[in-house]
Amino acid sequence: MRKTILAVLALAAVSGVASIASRATRAQTPASSAAVPHTTPLAVPTNKLEDALLEWPLPPGEQAYAKIDGKHLHQLVEEQAAIARRYRDQGHPKFWGRIIGSSADAEGAEWLANKFKTIGMSDVHIQPLPLDPQWFPQQWNVTVTGGGKTITLESAQPDYRAAALPSGGIDVEAVYGGLGSAADLAGKDVKGKAVFTYTMLGMHDEGAVKRADERGAVAIFEVDMTPGNMRYQGYPSNTKAPAFTVGSDDGLAVRDLIASLPPGQSARVKATLDVQMVPNLKTALVWGTLPGATDETIFIVAHRDGWFEASGDNAGGVASMVGLAEYYSKVPQAQRRRTMVFIGLDGHHNTGPGSAVGGVWLNDPANKAKLFAKTALSINCEHPSTIQTYARPRYLTGDVLHWSNMYTAQQWYAGGPSRPELTAIAVKAFKEFGVPLLTEPDQRPPAGDLGRLYRFTPGVATSEFFHYFHTDRESPDTVPWTGLQASTRAYAKIVDEVNKLPLSTFQRPEEPAR
Ligand SMILES: [Zn+2]
Repeated sequence: MRKTILAVLALAAVSGVASIASRATRAQTPASSAAVPHTTPLAVPTNKLEDALLEWPLPPGEQAYAKIDGKHLHQLVEEQAAIARRYRDQGHPKFWGRIIGSSADAEGAEWLANKFKTIGMSDVHIQPLPLDPQWFPQQWNVTVTGGGKTITLESAQPDYRAAALPSGGIDVEAVYGGLGSAADLAGKDVKGKAVFTYTMLGMHDEGAVKRADERGAVAIFEVDMTPGNMRYQGYPSNTKAPAFTVGSDDGLAVRDLIASLPPGQSARVKATLDVQMVPNLKTALVWGTLPGATDETIFIVAHRDGWFEASGDNAGGVASMVGLAEYYSKVPQAQRRRTMVFIGLDGHHNTGPGSAVGGVWLNDPANKAKLFAKTALSINCEHPSTIQTYARPRYLTGDVLHWSNMYTAQQWYAGGPSRPELTAIAVKAFKEFGVPLLTEPDQRPPAGDLGRLYRFTPGVATSEFFHYFHTDRESPDTVPWTGLQASTRAYAKIVDEVNKLPLSTFQRPEEPAR
C-alpha cells in the first residue's frame, strides 16, 4: 500500500502535476490487493484541486456577501479534522473522530467557544451535559482463511452499539451471501456461521443484515462496494449478532477466496470484538450570541460530532455556522433586526437510547418555551458541501471513485408546506448563490439535527450524505470550499430576507410529533 502511494507521489513530483485523479487514486489505494488497477488520469488542466473547483459568481448587487470566503471556511474544516486526528493518534487507531463523550468532543467544544470569543460574541459558554454509558469498542480483529491463504480484513468496522463477541473470539465457517436477499440466502444454512453480504449506496435495501441475524448467523459482514477499501462507521444494526461493515477490496478478496476452494471445503472466519460501555462521560452545547435590535431571535445550529476526520459531517456545517457568526459580528447591532443565537450541538452519532442529549435538552418544555417563543428562523448547518464523485462511471476503466470539480446537489427543507414565504426566500437564495438542490424539498428536514427542532421553529436545512460519508476517507478535501462558500452565503441571504418580515410570517403552532 505504502509503495503505491509513494509511486503515485513520486510520479506527481516528477511530472509536477498532482491532479485530481491522483488524489482520488491515493484515496482508493487498496489495502489488501496490489493487483487492482488504480490509475485513471483525468484531463484536469490544473495541479491543485482547490483551483479546479468551479466557483459560483456573486449575483449583481450582492457584493456584501463576498466577505464570506470559502477558503477561510475550509481552514475551519482543517482545524476540526486535526482535532479528530489528534484523538486517533492518542491510542485510538480504529474507532476515532470527534466522538461524543471523548476528549476530542471536549477539545472541539473549547475550539468552538474560542472561535465565538475571538469573534466578540456575547454570553459564550460551554454547557456540560451528562451522558449515559457510551459504546466504545476497545479492539477487534477479523481474518478469513481458506486454501492455505489468510486475509486480514483491515477495513472491518463494527456497527455502532454492536454487541461484543465472546471472549477469545469466534472461529466459524464463512458463508457467501450475495446481496443477502431471500433469494440469495435460499438453501444456505447460516446458523452459527459468519455471513458476507454485498451492497452499495444506491442499491435496493435487501434487509440483508437483519435476515442473516434472524437465521442465526453469529457475525455479519456487510461489504460496501463503493470503490476502494474504506472503513465505514455504520449506525446500529439492531441485531443480536454483531454486524461489521467491510470495504470493497476486502469484500471482493473474501468472495474470491471462497470461490477458489474445491467443493466441500469452506473458509473460516476468526473474529474478536471487545466493547466497553464507558460511564460518567459528558458532552456539551456551545453557545454564543450576537445581540440584535430586538429580543426576537434567529438560531444557527450545527452538530460538532462525527466519525474519523468528519469533515463533511459535520466540520463543514460548523465552519458554515462560524462563518455566519463572523459575518454578522461585523454588522452593527442596531442593523441586526433580531438577536442571533449560535449553538454547537453535541450531535447524534451515538444513536439509540440516551443519544442527542443536547436536542433532548432543547426539547424540554421549559427550555423550549424560553428559547423559541420569538424565533423567526432556525438554520441547521449540516453537511453543506460535499465533493461530487462518480463510482465506476460508464466507459471509464479502473475500480475507483472519480472526482469532479463541483459539489453535490443537496436534500433540503425550508419551513415546510405551512411556510410558503420561507420556502420561496430559501429557493431564491439557493438559486442566486449557486447551491444545487434536489428538485423537491423533503417533507421533513434531511436526516440530522433540525429533526429535533422543526416542529416548533421555522427551520431551514440542506444536507447530503455521499460516498465518503462516515468513512475514514472523509478528509477535508471532500468538502469543496466553493460549496461551503455558496451554502453559507445563501444562508446569510436567507437570514437577511427573513429579517425584512414580521415574526407572524414564519411562526406557526407546534406541529404534532410523528
Ligand atoms: Zn451530520
